[in-house]
Amino acid sequence: MLLQGKNIFKTYGNLKVLKGIHIDILEGEIVSIIGPSGAGKTTLLHILGTLEKADERKDYYLSIDGIPINHQSSKQLAQFRNQSLGFVFQFHGLLPEFTALENVSFPALIHGVSKKKAKKLAMELLEKLNIQNQAHQKPNTLSGGEQQRVAVARALINHPKLVLADEPTGNLDSDNADALHELFFDIRNQFGCCFVIVTHNQKLAKQADKIITLKDGQIV
Ligand code: ADP
Repeated sequence: MLLQGKNIFKTYGNLKVLKGIHIDILEGEIVSIIGPSGAGKTTLLHILGTLEKADERKDYYLSIDGIPINHQSSKQLAQFRNQSLGFVFQFHGLLPEFTALENVSFPALIHGVSKKKAKKLAMELLEKLNIQNQAHQKPNTLSGGEQQRVAVARALINHPKLVLADEPTGNLDSDNADALHELFFDIRNQFGCCFVIVTHNQKLAKQADKIITLKDGQIV
């Protein structure tokens, strides 16, 4: 079991966004999360990615790769995220003053990989995503789709156990969306990592090993 979550609740003020989610993800599984807008999909993804905390409860439990993370400190969590998780979010969060190649390299450098090796790994990923020619450009000179692919490369460089993606194909035309799906499956087959993908893309959702439908903060 790669991820195990029990009794995930999330409340903002009076608003109950998640109302008791139980979720299990097996090693190497690709899981899609679908459901209407406002159902709590992004909130759940952020909690699974340790970016947000679920409500404190006695019966709440979350573990990833066998490590219980519901009680870890923010410092421990930051290290855990760098080592074990990859994120592909809509607002790419690329650093504007650095090139695509540098943006992709950073998580590897933080992880302790040498500059030369990080650059090589980053270039290989950019090639796989067919944006090697844009490697030395800064994000604001790239199209939305190209920025998205840079963000994907950055998410994958440390070979995370779990990749969390929020509408990864949102900015892509159908050819690039198909290529990205293929890449997710390739990466899974090659490295055995899991993907949890929030998506409105029916085709991507259906290709997943498991589909989770959220409605009103609950799995239906
Ligand atoms: P989805 O991804 O399914 O569209 P979200 O998880 O983004 O849904 O949001 C679910 C609900 O939680 C929405 O009503 C949203 O307004 C609310 N919400 C999300 N984040 C916050 C926050 N930081 N503070 C208050 N309400 C929030």
